[in-house]
Amino acid sequence: MPIKVLEPELASQIAAGEVVERPVSVVKELVENSLDAGAFQITVEIKGGGVDQVRVIDDGEGIPADQVALAFQHHATSKLTRQEQLDCIGTLGFRGEAIPSIAAVSQMTMTTRPHDTGGGQQVQYQWGQKVSEGSQGCSPGTSVTVSDLFANLPARRKFLKSNSAETARIRELIDRYALAFPGVRFQLVVEGRTSVATPGSGRPEEALLAVYGPEIASGMLRVQEDDPESGYGVDGFVSAPRLNRANRTYMTFFINRRWIQSRMLSFALEEAYHGLLPERRYPLAALNLTVPYSDVDVNSHPAKREVRFVDESKVYSTLQRAVRAALIADSPVPVLGRSGFGSGQPSANDGAASPSFFRSAFDRPGSSGRGAGGQQGNEYGALTAAGFTPQQALPALRVVGQVRLTYIVAEGPDGMYLVDQHAAHERVLFDRIVRKAADQSPESQPLLAPMTVDLTPGQAEAFHNNLAFLAAYGFEVEAFGENSYLLRAVPSVMTSQNPAQSLVDILDMVAFEGLLRQHDDVLAASIACHSAIRAGKSLTEPEMRALLEELEVTDNPHTCPHGRPTLIHFSEYQMDREFGRR
Ligand code: ADP
Ligand code: MG
Repeated sequence: MPIKVLEPELASQIAAGEVVERPVSVVKELVENSLDAGAFQITVEIKGGGVDQVRVIDDGEGIPADQVALAFQHHATSKLTRQEQLDCIGTLGFRGEAIPSIAAVSQMTMTTRPHDTGGGQQVQYQWGQKVSEGSQGCSPGTSVTVSDLFANLPARRKFLKSNSAETARIRELIDRYALAFPGVRFQLVVEGRTSVATPGSGRPEEALLAVYGPEIASGMLRVQEDDPESGYGVDGFVSAPRLNRANRTYMTFFINRRWIQSRMLSFALEEAYHGLLPERRYPLAALNLTVPYSDVDVNSHPAKREVRFVDESKVYSTLQRAVRAALIADSPVPVLGRSGFGSGQPSANDGAASPSFFRSAFDRPGSSGRGAGGQQGNEYGALTAAGFTPQQALPALRVVGQVRLTYIVAEGPDGMYLVDQHAAHERVLFDRIVRKAADQSPESQPLLAPMTVDLTPGQAEAFHNNLAFLAAYGFEVEAFGENSYLLRAVPSVMTSQNPAQSLVDILDMVAFEGLLRQHDDVLAASIACHSAIRAGKSLTEPEMRALLEELEVTDNPHTCPHGRPTLIHFSEYQMDREFGRR
């Protein structure tokens, strides 16, 4: 067939395919336009799953009458003028493709009025052709109605899911934007009924409550970290470990308030919960990362769903540190301490939606602000000083029992100890691996039959950077073709059913951890983490006793190799004070 330039109509239908996959893409583009226009209030009305109709009404800056039709032309945008701006994009839109693409596959009406003009303008399009334009009275702002989506493209309609499935996607999208823009009043109306409405107060916890309801909201922790020097920061919410899900659906990430999908960020988040969640359980999160505009390329995906970072490791470590700080700040010590020291904090169960609910659920000392890493209020400071005795080795402990299949309760010469079983085991394994390596007597377990392992380039790099350590810790691996390796033996501490998969997992951890901190022990820490017992595992008394005995003889029994505490100590003095005996 000879090469031909496509007819304009066909060309724009093809272009539309990249931007407009389904009704939720229409809603996304229109809502992003409203946000770019500085709207404080955005109402989204949908009918028939968004296929019959999507209407987005905003109170943003509007479009001057003589420019409305321009918005319907390809590559027409008010957001980008010079090429160098592409390196520094602060708006959600920038390609000038959305309006013409949606207009090509629907019946579309735009009515708009800038705040400083008396009247409005209306333009109507049908399958990409303008059918009318004229002045039209309306309130300031813009309203866009998109009807009969894909009616001219039956093939695409076939790929749509049920109305309720399409509606669910739209609800999810609005939820996410509402969380990222707590200063905007969002309202989603489905078939005439309000499905979600946020107050637009600017207070993130109020947006969270409106979107997820009191039960989830009360289980979420505030994350807030800024580094004005580098321009990187994190803001939002993550779930306390007791609140978790079976999949990653509830993880939402924004970069500079643009919703994106990123395996790297999910991984950083999951790493921060390392050891705190049972296997195959995932946290909830809604986090906005602030990244200097010049450090992120937003122009790398047709629907702008993915971005590229100049400094991926910086993004990774910023997120992971901020989340871990929030989780540590939520540890049980300050809670016990607070009630005892008489600060009179109500519990999170008091009056779900009342203002006091916010104070108790979110404004707990140390869970917001930059001091979350441990510089909490006086109460925590006092407890920490009295509780931890970092210089001393751990005394002999007597096992009392196990709590939530996660913590071991033990008694020592001065009070009670709560031990995190995963963190403690990790410390024990780590010390053993490193000690044996130093003695040049790695404990190695040969496999019955060698296994082949295929590595991705990232994993292979981690592998080659750690060749000497792998051998020193008890791995026997040899190259076996292009990306394949032959695994012959593993460190004895590894009890995995699938050693090949474990090696891959460990290399993944090393690759990411290595970005965070360049130190020699990354591999040992990853092996220990992978092999240590998890939270959620029931332990017998002899098992708990053995673990504590092993922990007692480690050099640094108070923290796991990642720096998290392995145990919390409640002195007799503290306990007596809590009960009013002193
Ligand atoms: P982009 O957002 O990439 O610029 P669009 O096709 O989405 O491209 O929109 C084209 C232009 O129309 C925008 O640059 C903007 O000037 C104008 N526009 C679209 N929607 C709105 C709105 N809700 N309020 C004000 N201006 C809008
Ligand atoms: Mg746009």
